[in-house]
Amino acid sequence: MNIEIAKYSGYCFGVKRALDITERTLKKYKNNNVKIYSLGQIIHNKGVVDKLSKKGLIIAADEAEITPGSVFIVRSHGVGPEILKRLKAKNIKIVNATCPFVKNAQSKAKMLSKKGYYLVIIGSKNHPEVIGIRDHIKSKKSVMVIEDEKDIDVLRKNNRIGIVVQTTSTIEKFQLIVSKILEKGNEILIENTICDTTKKRQNSTKELSKKVDVMIIVGGKNSANTAHLAEISKKYNPRTYYIENYKDLNLDWVKGGKNIGISGGASTPQEDIFNVKKLIEEI
Ligand code: SF4
Repeated sequence: MNIEIAKYSGYCFGVKRALDITERTLKKYKNNNVKIYSLGQIIHNKGVVDKLSKKGLIIAADEAEITPGSVFIVRSHGVGPEILKRLKAKNIKIVNATCPFVKNAQSKAKMLSKKGYYLVIIGSKNHPEVIGIRDHIKSKKSVMVIEDEKDIDVLRKNNRIGIVVQTTSTIEKFQLIVSKILEKGNEILIENTICDTTKKRQNSTKELSKKVDVMIIVGGKNSANTAHLAEISKKYNPRTYYIENYKDLNLDWVKGGKNIGISGGASTPQEDIFNVKKLIEEI
């Protein structure tokens, strides 16, 4: 049995950077009795989040839980400027681990809005990155999130429309939605804010899924980019299985297969990918 791991797979630059910043911050304040918070999971991977919680990171479900005098780590998904203002006013120190690609999407959105374009953000309405981008736009009347084709019906005709896209979206979805928005405006300015890492991961997963008998996608079920990898792989290989870690692997899935492919999302530790490979090798 040949087992191949997708060329671009596992932790991306933005996630690695956010985790390094978090580890350094936890170390720095370890003996100072200072509480350290993130708003929601620092990355979409339960195993990693549990480890960081043991080291002292507090996962707040709501901004109100973050206490004065504490430290707040902005995760790679970013947040809107108003939250930061409110937290600073409560004497909370901000450590910003927003991924530079997400910052780029935020700046492009702000720039388009300032220039008078009605802003469309293509992405998942409830994803923290999309909420953070939208929160950079002052007038909520001049921005809309489009999650799927159905939402386009609600988009009113506008003279000028500016478009940005969630960094982890698939290029296919982006193209499809953009093509439908074209009928809705006269002047349309499109900023492709899908990050390089995402493009590379999606392409290498696509290529691998085409040539193997079975594909295993490893990563958090709440990770948007991992879910997209599974979606892409399934399109080219019906024997695609999406698991959180090696414990979810059913060895019957790979039986009879000669070539097995494995890929992991941007928030999947390399260790989780290797553990899956090891388990298959032992058959
Ligand atoms: S997937 Fe892209 S945008 Fe998201 S954290 Fe990684 S590098 Fe940054």
